[in-house]
Amino acid sequence: MGMKVVFVGPPGAGKGTQAENIVKKYGLLHLSTGDMLRAARDAKTPVGLEAEKYMSAGQLVPDEVIIKVIVERLAQPDAERGYLLDGFPRTVVQAEELDKSLAAKGEKLDVILHLAVFDTEEEETKELVRRLVERGRTSGRSDDTEEVIRQRLDVYHKQTAPLIDYYKKSGNLVKIHGEKSIPEVAAQVESILDNIQV
Ligand code: AMP
Repeated sequence: MGMKVVFVGPPGAGKGTQAENIVKKYGLLHLSTGDMLRAARDAKTPVGLEAEKYMSAGQLVPDEVIIKVIVERLAQPDAERGYLLDGFPRTVVQAEELDKSLAAKGEKLDVILHLAVFDTEEEETKELVRRLVERGRTSGRSDDTEEVIRQRLDVYHKQTAPLIDYYKKSGNLVKIHGEKSIPEVAAQVESILDNIQV
């Protein structure tokens, strides 16, 4: 079984960019729940159509919906080579369910990378809104508009940031200094992953 890594950080912090580099270098599966939900929405599956209502409003898809999606995905044989979860878990309930489902297979997460960028929430909101509005010009993502971005950041602080404390207690949380350049952030991540024994 390969390495199991989780990426936590606000939208716009650079998780997607770093994730691409990591999965290439370590041969991991890149499991982005946002990408999975957008694909389900485009394919008009029942889960995709249900998810779209929440995604377009910048709200989280209900825990039971997304947990089922990810647990089924992790049961696929290709997950054996290890994976990077990007965008999941996003609530403490999701983290607990993930831990339970791994424990049932005698597994656990190897490391949780917390991509932290700013000292204050005010500073962070300003910069992330700027970045995501900019991204929205080319991404074509309907949730990269200023109003929805502010909602997503609010949801991050209220529902996802508590994960940091949850994972601090489990002891394998590492903070990445995301304010550095893309190669410098990648170097920090690599120095952590290079030292993980699986
Ligand atoms: P992302 O691409 O990670 O920014 O996700 C886009 C949207 O998909 C989010 O704003 C949520 O509506 C939904 N989503 C993605 N991952 C999750 C998750 N783990 N829990 C709930 N909703 C999610």
